[in-house]
Amino acid sequence: MRCPRCFGKMAYECFQDMEDDTGNLFFYGWRCILCGEILDSVIVSNRKNRPEPVGNKNRKLFVSSKKLAAQTATK
Ligand SMILES: [Zn+2]
Repeated sequence: MRCPRCFGKMAYECFQDMEDDTGNLFFYGWRCILCGEILDSVIVSNRKNRPEPVGNKNRKLFVSSKKLAAQTATK
């Protein structure tokens, strides 16, 4: 399996975690040996179902310097 981030080789491992509400203390998943990316079925499912990013309403509209120069030259 190849890492979706860096395309490095991934190893299938057993991970130890805090005990969750299902009582699981261990889970199996893939870890990239280059960048450390960890994937399991829960992570993949959450990434597929994540909501769309919300646009920042406070961000100013970007105007390039060429466009600004063209706007000021016509006035
Ligand atoms: Zn990687």
